[in-house]
Amino acid sequence: MSHSQESPEVQEAPVVLYEARGAVAFVTMNRPQYRNAQNAKMTYALEEAFNRAISDDAIKVIVLGGAGAHFSAGHDIGSPGRDIHQSFPRVATSNWEHVGKEGAENIFVREQELYLGMCRRWRELPKPTIARVQGACIAGALMLAWVCDLIIASDDAFFADPVLKMGIPGVEYFAHPFVMSPRKAKEFLFLGEKISAKEAHEIGMVNRVVPAASLEAETLAIAEKISAMPRFGLALAKKAINQAEDRMGLRDSMDAAYALHHLAHAHNTLTSPDHLAGQDAKSMAKSLK
Ligand code: ZN
Repeated sequence: MSHSQESPEVQEAPVVLYEARGAVAFVTMNRPQYRNAQNAKMTYALEEAFNRAISDDAIKVIVLGGAGAHFSAGHDIGSPGRDIHQSFPRVATSNWEHVGKEGAENIFVREQELYLGMCRRWRELPKPTIARVQGACIAGALMLAWVCDLIIASDDAFFADPVLKMGIPGVEYFAHPFVMSPRKAKEFLFLGEKISAKEAHEIGMVNRVVPAASLEAETLAIAEKISAMPRFGLALAKKAINQAEDRMGLRDSMDAAYALHHLAHAHNTLTSPDHLAGQDAKSMAKSLK
């Protein structure tokens, strides 16, 4: 993979770790100093790690997690390794480059590849995936948890999509009315507040809540139990559910929401300093206090 203009920070540690434990692959976001804020480098490293797990017939289940105290604070909107103007070989969409494009095209194309496109690919991985969530799971981090088949949360986990503060109607992978009821989704977006692991479990967004100290062991135990099932059967069961969700409208409503999302980005660009309405990591974090 070729990169240009890398800051020294992003050249040091691998931004995604991969570890096979028996039939289970642990894929771990590894920018704990930035609460695992996702830059493009991390997104492509996740893609590479998932491909590795899929190519290895010994791996039956993939666990996605985050190093440190938090799963992820979302997309990188302010770390030294933010790389929104870098070009990477595209994998989820056709070779429509965002770098060098003006106006709405730039961000529309970039997010179609990195956010909507990648998340859709990962949702369709032909092996069961489990999100192992502790601490913050905010905005762009929700998308990563939601594309996983199961979500196991530690009792200290919390979830929020506060992007309405930027005037944006929810993150790019718009699964909100499917992972919770439509009425709850409105409350979740309108208030932009955190919900606890317990509440996330009560509304059906999370499969299980376990004590923080046993999150890894419990997740591994569930993954190992799943891994005893026939591989092809697991892939078929996963596909059957995903197809049902798409027939219930998930894919189409997500396409429609993506257009509204980019109307909001364009509106912000016309009326404020940037497509994020002048908000940054600090101002967004303040709104979640
Ligand atoms: Zn966006």
